[in-house]
Amino acid sequence: MESKAVLRNIDYLRLLVQLIYKGEFNVNKKKYEIVIFDIDDTLFDFSLSEHAALHNTFMEYEMPTGFADMHDSYRAISKVLWNDLEQGKIALHELGVERFRRLFLEHGADKDPHSFSSSYLQYLGKETHLMEGAVEVLGSLTDCQLVIMTNGFGEVQKARLANSPIGNLFEEIIISEEAGYQKPHPAIFDYAFAKLGNPLKERSIIVGDSLTSDIQGGNNFGIDTVWFNPKRKTASKGIRPTYEIQDLLEVVDIVKGQTGAGKEEPL
Ligand SMILES: [Mg+2]
Repeated sequence: MESKAVLRNIDYLRLLVQLIYKGEFNVNKKKYEIVIFDIDDTLFDFSLSEHAALHNTFMEYEMPTGFADMHDSYRAISKVLWNDLEQGKIALHELGVERFRRLFLEHGADKDPHSFSSSYLQYLGKETHLMEGAVEVLGSLTDCQLVIMTNGFGEVQKARLANSPIGNLFEEIIISEEAGYQKPHPAIFDYAFAKLGNPLKERSIIVGDSLTSDIQGGNNFGIDTVWFNPKRKTASKGIRPTYEIQDLLEVVDIVKGQTGAGKEEPL
């Protein structure tokens, strides 16, 4: 009886060794070591932050109905200008003022767009509404190198991170203003990878909500991508992510190479 039990144990050990050798039984196995996160609408809820900061700025400028009257126009103007920024047609500091210049022109408001923009950015830096699951995801990936990459205003993003519970979890915070290039330009990734000691591209992945900056940027540079798409938008414009998710927590399984049923194959 005893010898049979020993044999069974040997068989079991042999199987275990084979699985480990084949890489199929490794609790520490991770597919990706470097996880690059976008900030706005990926880790932070930008709509909430923008709403609060705009409201506060309009109140400061004694425009109590400003938000209600101008928010829709502001979003439309802003969207056009952020697309221009991704295409390198406008610099960030120009965008910051230009959106309010166009807004006030459209609504006939006699306000200084420079000072209004500066107040708005101050308020924005204080808004730290995290997306659902952000803390849990980052907390589960502390054995990876976590990186922020943003096209947003450096001072604002740093202030928001510092004021939030996730601020100290990142190895590098890559700000497009400092890199001299914005997503989706591959040069911002070159800049980030140089800072990270040139890690392997195949062990790196970017997570973001924007097809045109995050996913296109990852594609341009040649790393895998996770498109965080909670509103299930249609992937137009011919930009294809490696993975698409609706719940931020799914990033953990992707990074660990443990994508569940139906997600084994990248898109
Ligand atoms: Mg974003």
